Amino acid sequence: MHTFEFTRAESAADAVQTAARAKTAQQGADVRFIAGGTTLVDLMKLDVEMPSRLIDINRLPLDKVEEMAGGELKIGATVRNSDLAHHPKVQRDYAVLSQAILSGASAQLRNMATTAGNLLQRTRCLYFRDNAMPCNKREPGTGCPAITGSNRMLAILGTSEHCIATNPSDMCVAMAALEATIHVQGAKGARSIPIGDFHLLPGSTPQRETVLEPGDLITHVTLPPPRPGSKQLYLKLRDRASYEFALASAAVVMNLTGGNVSYVRIALGGVGTKPWRSPEAEAALTGKAANAANFRQAAEAALRNARPQSENNFKIELAKRCLTHALHTAAKS
Ligand SMILES: Cc1cc2nc3c(=O)[nH]c(=O)nc-3n(C[C@H](O)[C@H](O)[C@H](O)COP(=O)(O)OP(=O)(O)OC[C@H]3O[C@@H](n4cnc5c(N)ncnc54)[C@H](O)[C@@H]3O)c2cc1C
Ligand code: SF4
Repeated sequence: MHTFEFTRAESAADAVQTAARAKTAQQGADVRFIAGGTTLVDLMKLDVEMPSRLIDINRLPLDKVEEMAGGELKIGATVRNSDLAHHPKVQRDYAVLSQAILSGASAQLRNMATTAGNLLQRTRCLYFRDNAMPCNKREPGTGCPAITGSNRMLAILGTSEHCIATNPSDMCVAMAALEATIHVQGAKGARSIPIGDFHLLPGSTPQRETVLEPGDLITHVTLPPPRPGSKQLYLKLRDRASYEFALASAAVVMNLTGGNVSYVRIALGGVGTKPWRSPEAEAALTGKAANAANFRQAAEAALRNARPQSENNFKIELAKRCLTHALHTAAKS
């Protein structure tokens, strides 16, 4: 591993000021915040990330889950994934989020991993993690060997000719269905970003994954007030029962009125280059009877624009079945 300077942030303002001196907050950043370290240290060992400075944010007072006056839930950036998943309020009112987090990684990793770190975890694309290989995301302009190579795990929605990497997060898929907002403190002040606008499609700049700028510190995430009577479910399909990333997953938040779908939010994981909210599936289902035919139609709508590669055509039908089954199970609950 290369050498780097390590400091502990005593205040958010100091952390932001120091990080704002970096040239970028994206791939190749020379200053990085470190939270649980389960993504960052891994990538530093592989020389995929080589920051010259690490700022430990674990002492900042960002580790609380709090109910706000308006009924929103405020989740601090350094709240551990385990603490969030097991929080009584999350288990009761945002069950899809608890289920999504608990379906990911392992107990040990979830004890370390944080809310902000999970939002910023990087793709598991093999070529991205192998410095000996070209990769447009790691080294812009070098090419994308995954398109003609090993792409079974990679994305079928939101891809470009420059990158087809999947966003691997489970937590973010549930947050997309819950319409979370990400709050950032930056060199120019604070701002709030809806999760749908936070991650970027790869386009011709796959090295740029989020809207974050140098110095931007995620301070917390908010969830809208709970939806009374909503049925929620996260369903994850993968190659083995635990400790594995999704091949396809679905997050559903749904209200039924008299057997009809009066409200639904749908997001998919394992298939998109970003956590994949599907307005198409939501529009196909809203106002319709909660039955198998309409669930399948919603799934068809969600995958209509899928573009498979040589090894991942199977994900189209898998994702459709995943969403159909998630809707069916949620409706029955
Ligand atoms: C073996 C293994 C299996 C896994 N399986 C799964 C899985 O099945 N599903 C899943 O969803 N995830 C999985 N993960 C990923 C895991 O969830 C992430 O590594 C974790 O959530 C990252 O959180 P962290 O706090 O450790 O982040 P860190 O490694 O500390 O940081 C990650 C990135 O976020 C930045 N950062 C951290 N905090 C802030 C902040 N407040 N503001 C701005 N930037 C910040 C860091 O600079 C870094 O770039 C797995 C990981 C491993 C190692
Ligand atoms: S899919 Fe993206 S991350 Fe993977 S090799 Fe291609 S450019 Fe790199």
